[in-house]
Amino acid sequence: MKICVLGAGVIGLTTAWYLSEAGHDVVIVDRHAATGADASAANGGQLSYAFVTPLASPATLLKLPSLLIARGSPMRIRPGLDPRLISWGVRFLLACRSAAVRDTVAAQLELAALSRAELARLTQTLGLAFGLRTAGKLVLFRSQGEFDTARSAVIDDTAAGDAQQVLTPAECLALEPALKLGERELAGGIFTASEQVGDCAAFCAALADRLKHRINVEWQLGTPVTRPVRSGGHLVAVDTGSGHVRADRFVLCMGASSSDFASACGFYLPIYPVKGYSITLQPARQAGTLRHSVTDFERKLVFAPLAREAGTAIRVAGIADLDGNDRSIDPARVDVLRRASGELLGIEADGDVQPWCGLRPMTPDSRPIIAWSPLPELFVNSGHGMLGWTLACGSARLAADLIDGRPAAIAAGAFNLRRAA
Ligand SMILES: Cc1cc2nc3c(=O)[nH]c(=O)nc-3n(C[C@H](O)[C@H](O)[C@H](O)COP(=O)(O)OP(=O)(O)OC[C@H]3O[C@@H](n4cnc5c(N)ncnc54)[C@H](O)[C@@H]3O)c2cc1C
Repeated sequence: MKICVLGAGVIGLTTAWYLSEAGHDVVIVDRHAATGADASAANGGQLSYAFVTPLASPATLLKLPSLLIARGSPMRIRPGLDPRLISWGVRFLLACRSAAVRDTVAAQLELAALSRAELARLTQTLGLAFGLRTAGKLVLFRSQGEFDTARSAVIDDTAAGDAQQVLTPAECLALEPALKLGERELAGGIFTASEQVGDCAAFCAALADRLKHRINVEWQLGTPVTRPVRSGGHLVAVDTGSGHVRADRFVLCMGASSSDFASACGFYLPIYPVKGYSITLQPARQAGTLRHSVTDFERKLVFAPLAREAGTAIRVAGIADLDGNDRSIDPARVDVLRRASGELLGIEADGDVQPWCGLRPMTPDSRPIIAWSPLPELFVNSGHGMLGWTLACGSARLAADLIDGRPAAIAAGAFNLRRAA
């Protein structure tokens, strides 16, 4: 079968790999000249297999008013009446129910476990180098309430190697000496030794390189998809402005733009862009000492040590702005990350910190959509939100299983389109 993969971010590239491995002829189309150039370019680097809490939750609902008003808040909504945001927002509120959160966490943990196994397999068999490291993840809590809720959900799965340890403030500071916080500023922490970090952009570049050596893979980079070409109820091609790309099947992996393409195809895909920021601190000067990846839970910020040729860099990432498709960098939001680097790690982030922003393709319940669309030729693998790097390989494996009609590696019902739309 000839299958066209729309989008060459981490989701499109992994999907293309699994489809080509299954023997399909694959054509990869992306508007950028390079792969992994949008949300996958400079994300937080965390492979967060055990910590998959969705954005929508009873706690988020309670905090929403203060989150949206406070200066320097990790979340912001552009004032105005974006109809796309209203229909997405209603679904988001429904997804804040405890039962919905439980379903999401169970589904995400299963997909994350599959992803971990598949990433290990790809890394080994293809010899991919992207700084994969089991650094362990320390999640810090500043408020007692949040800490108590989190510790009641701690995973004690020693057999699976995912056991989590509940730590006092003093234990947090002893575990991660790079932290410059005082004990009194913390309620406690949860440490998961098995969590990993890796550079998503380097993974995309390495996988794209392997894909370029496969004879059944064709590339159309620098090629924006302008509209679907339909005949009757069937998708037969995509228009790129400079011609049509025809295929038997299409896989939608356009990240935050996936919903626009779906709407041009005549169906609603509840994916909204949630803008996040990162800065990258070059450590020769200050870092290198951060041993684990660290999450500041209330501020929704992550700090990850990333391996670089010149030494370890620290990627600081976070913020969730609902600004529509605006991709501009707001210096005030970058300052939130600079200040946090100073406060948490004592790093003066005043030089060139490589500020970056990307649009997370976010579903209301934070679960990706990995399923056939209402058009029989179009499969959707998109909407991975805050965890696209973590979930990429498992999602691609599941997508390839479903496209080929093989028994799926995990239950797929939790990722269907109906539950979200
Ligand atoms: C600040 C930040 C921090 C993050 N941290 C983490 C983390 O620590 N761990 C984690 O697991 N995840 C993290 N994420 C989430 C993760 O980066 C995303 O979920 C993931 O990159 C989404 O991948 P994607 O391939 O779906 O989208 P993208 O990488 O955005 O790829 C979509 C592709 O589609 C192409 N495209 C779109 N429209 C068209 C068109 N019309 N024609 C042709 N091509 C088109 C784009 O050019 C792009 O290449 C973070 C995200 C952000 C923003």
